[in-house]
Amino acid sequence: MKVYKFGGASVKDAEGVKNVAMVLETQGFEKCLLVVSAMGKTTNALEKVVEYYFKKQNYQDEIETIKQNHIEIAKGLFEDNHAVFGEISLFFDDIDSFLRRNKSPNYNFVYDQVVSCGEMISSKILSEYLNDIQFFNHWLDARDYIKTDSTYREGGVKWQETEHNISKLDKINCYVTQGFIGSDDNNFTVTLGREGSDYTAAIFAYCLNADEMTIWKDVPGVMTGDPRKFENVELLSNISYEEAIEMAYYGASVIHPKTLQPLKQKNIPFFVKSFVEPKKPGTKVGNSEENELLESYILKENQTLLNVETRDFSFIAEDHMSLIFGLLAKYKIKVSLVQNSAISLALCLEDKFGNANDFNEELQQSFITQLTKNVSLFTVRNVNLDTLDQFYKDKKVLLEQISKKTFQMVTL
Ligand code: ASP
Ligand code: MG
Repeated sequence: MKVYKFGGASVKDAEGVKNVAMVLETQGFEKCLLVVSAMGKTTNALEKVVEYYFKKQNYQDEIETIKQNHIEIAKGLFEDNHAVFGEISLFFDDIDSFLRRNKSPNYNFVYDQVVSCGEMISSKILSEYLNDIQFFNHWLDARDYIKTDSTYREGGVKWQETEHNISKLDKINCYVTQGFIGSDDNNFTVTLGREGSDYTAAIFAYCLNADEMTIWKDVPGVMTGDPRKFENVELLSNISYEEAIEMAYYGASVIHPKTLQPLKQKNIPFFVKSFVEPKKPGTKVGNSEENELLESYILKENQTLLNVETRDFSFIAEDHMSLIFGLLAKYKIKVSLVQNSAISLALCLEDKFGNANDFNEELQQSFITQLTKNVSLFTVRNVNLDTLDQFYKDKKVLLEQISKKTFQMVTL
């Protein structure tokens, strides 16, 4: 089987949905599973609904706007009396009645129940549209297949159960399902983290022992830098799983970092291609012999720099480290760079859930700390040390590090 993932940008309007069919035509529509994200910026809009709900502001208008957007898109795809319009409305009624009845003060729980609807609707629209034009497929509720723990907004996949469920799928069919979502033991929806649809595709690919997986993007493939941020970037035709994991880890947004591991484990060839030019080869991610080592640039913005010092001029020792990292885990803050000296430790952090201040407060009970928000982490893979100077221009460098062939700097 082949697994294809279509992200939000690829289905942002009716033309986009039609273009998916065009892409499928170039690939042959058989024995495949399509994973689709929410349309365009729907996820951000649904996040606003949750935010307004908790602030006790008017969230209904926002729901109505999102609903109208989807109806507009559907109008460009279906006849007026098509059943899909009723189905779209039902999803929005569900959000509304869920919020009216909800008693849970747990932001992350409520977030997942609401925000997941973006994928439910987009997958419904895509599946119905493809069926209408004779690309016959079954619509799947991904939550019946991907089982997770109850870590809302960052679900941990229960692999055994998930593999068992997915293995029951008949591999001669075509399917359309949602990215980004799974469900816990109580069948509550759990999302897999922002931009998690790539990961969903990899989970299905792994459990189906897929022949290959492709994510369709608005860029030609994995580039030596994000073309929106860097000039003169080149396409990487072949890279290893390892290189791709490193790049995703350092923040190359073209692939979600969790995606590579399941694919690597089963050596599933993985392609990143353009949905605008689907016949072009794009990037192939596979085994290391094929690795192309070009200097690549990755910029991760909105990071937080933390400096920690001991109060009594003692060394930052193992017990301190264990305390600091324990707190990071507690506050769900990710570390993207570590540098330590005798009495101080510097960490570049990614604070997805906005917990940095609480974390810092607790840390200050034991250490002297300094927190700098809104810094950028700039990473160069396969760096050419002879031309390092160019990166320092116009930058206020707070921290830098060179390891193997990776150069990193934290800048303000
Ligand atoms: N719709 C989700 C998001 O925007 C998941 C995804 O696009 O991968 O984060
Ligand atoms: Mg997206």
